[in-house]
Formats: sequence, structure tokens, C-alpha cells
Amino acid sequence: MKIEEIKSIAVVGAGQMGRGIAQVIAAAGWDVLLCDVNDAVLASGVRKIREGFAKSVEKDSLTKEQSDAALGRIRTAVRLDLVADTQFVVEAAPESADLKLDLFKRLGLLCKPEAILASNTSSISITRLATASGRAAQVIGLHFMNPVPVMRLVEVTRGMDTSDETVALALEVIKRLGKTPVISKDASGFIVNRVLMPMINEAIFALQEGIGAPETIDLAITEGLNHPVGPLALADRIGLDTVLAICEVLHQDFGDPKFRPCPLLRKYVEAGRLGRKTGRGFYTYEGH
Ligand code: NAD
Repeated sequence: MKIEEIKSIAVVGAGQMGRGIAQVIAAAGWDVLLCDVNDAVLASGVRKIREGFAKSVEKDSLTKEQSDAALGRIRTAVRLDLVADTQFVVEAAPESADLKLDLFKRLGLLCKPEAILASNTSSISITRLATASGRAAQVIGLHFMNPVPVMRLVEVTRGMDTSDETVALALEVIKRLGKTPVISKDASGFIVNRVLMPMINEAIFALQEGIGAPETIDLAITEGLNHPVGPLALADRIGLDTVLAICEVLHQDFGDPKFRPCPLLRKYVEAGRLGRKTGRGFYTYEGH
């Protein structure tokens, strides 16, 4: 398939990543079908995309007309079968291997034979998802960063049987989105989370051991290492459920105890303190 043949892109999962991905795809001129199992998430997703476009208009990076046109290109659906009308799918459902394997199996059956299936997974094997889809040559990892409209990187991962054509087309799509691709091998966590998760997890161990309060640990890292955001604030932004899920995949896949999730992280998830998305994690957030 050529890039000109892509008319419509589906984004499956309208959480914080899916809605960001839908926003940049619509801004780049493609029609977007944003799917989620939850109607309320779709409504709040579209509201947040509208706010995102309004910010771009304020900053003069989009005109009001461009913003209205981009918003008009986004449709929403709770029914997954509508993906049959699209040529490219980006899956951004929760970081659960069982859930994603089931989705890739269904997407493989529902989509046009030539359609490309991409996953925004942070850690799960692309080769595994590709096998489940029944169209391994057309499956690729496209790992966007959070928040998607702001962060430039997309990690690109080919599964064992991903074709050169699929990689070339995905790179063209990323270029049109104005993002910077980095190619990673299909190893759990790819590059970014292989490096980031041990740091976040260690910061949570430091908190658990009373080495410092969250503000102190984050300040040490922002001021001492010149990071723009501390590891605990970043974990709250990612979502502590997602952080735990990624640590578990790394721990299981590599069998290395250095990836074992901190018990305090597990406690926060058990308590429903998932970070910004629930209004409470290591910090509290008004009007999340
Ligand atoms: P999220 O919990 O905010 O959103 C996930 C959405 O998927 C929810 O709205 C949920 O209703 C929906 N969903 C659940 N089952 C579904 C199904 N069967 N079909 C369609 N939608 C379904 O999660 P998120 O933070 O947006 O993460 C999504 C993916 O992106 C994960 O794989 C995660 O690892 C990855 N990711 C997350 C970040 C981050 O910073 N949060 C960064 C990069 C990649």
C-alpha cells in the first residue's frame, strides 16, 4: 500500500494516548475513527482533543479553520467492526497482553487484507501481537510518547515477520505526523521503557524506604540531573497501572530481579491511586 491510499486511520482505545494519537493524525489531514469500549471515555476524549486544538490556535501553530477542519475529521465508535473502513489501525488499549492479543486477533479478521496494524504498546512483544493477527507482515510497533501532541519521538519496532514495505510506510506516516522515529529491536520495553522503568521503580523504592518525600526525590532528579520532570511525577502522568504492567512484562520476559515492581507501586494501584487520571497518585490533582 502507498501512503496516498491511506484515507482513514483507526485509533483503538481513547485514553490519554489514544486521544493524543487521534489528535495528531487528524491535524496531519487524515480522517480518524476513534474507538473505545466506553462511551464516556470517547466523549471526554473528544473534549480533550478540542481543548488541545484550542491551545494550538492560541499558540498560532494552527488556524481556527485548520483546527475546526481537523476536529471535523474525527469520528467515534464503540463498535470495533467499523475499523473495516480504514487502511491503518493504531491500537492504544490498556497494557495487558491478553487484551491486546484478543484485539489483534479481532482486528486481523475485521480489517481489509491490505490494512496495517500498529500497536502503541510500551513493552509487549510485537511478534506475539503479529502472530495473533494472522497478518504478521503488516504488524508493527509504533510507540508514541506522552503527551503525544508535544513529544517528538516514536519508537518503531518490527516483529520477526514484519515486511520492509510495512516499515517504510509506517516511517512515512510518522514523518507526516512531524515526529522523529527511532528503530528498536523487538525486546520488552524497547529502548525508552527499558531505561525509564528501572529509574521510576527505583524512585518508588526510595520513597518506600523513606529516603525522601515525593517532592524531594523529584527535586533531586530535576535539579541534580537536569530532567524536565521527576520520576514520580512522570509515573503519575504515565498512570501507575501502566507503570506496574510494564514492570511486570520486563520482569517476566527478562527474568531479572532488577525489574521486580516495587511493592509500594502495587499498593498504590490496589488503592486505585493511578496518578493524574484518577486525580491521585504520588501527588494529588485538581479537576483531572
Ligand atoms: P488508558 O487507560 O488511559 O486508556 C486505555 C483505553 O482503552 C481506555 O479508555 C479503555 O476504555 C480502552 N479500552 C479497553 N479495552 C478496550 C478494547 N477492547 N477496545 C477498545 N478500547 C479499549 O491507557 P493509556 O495510558 O492511554 O495507554 C494505552 C497504551 O499506550 C498502553 O499500551 C500503554 O502501555 C501505551 N503507552 C502509554 C503511555 C503513557 O504515558 N500512559 C506512553 C506510551 C505508550
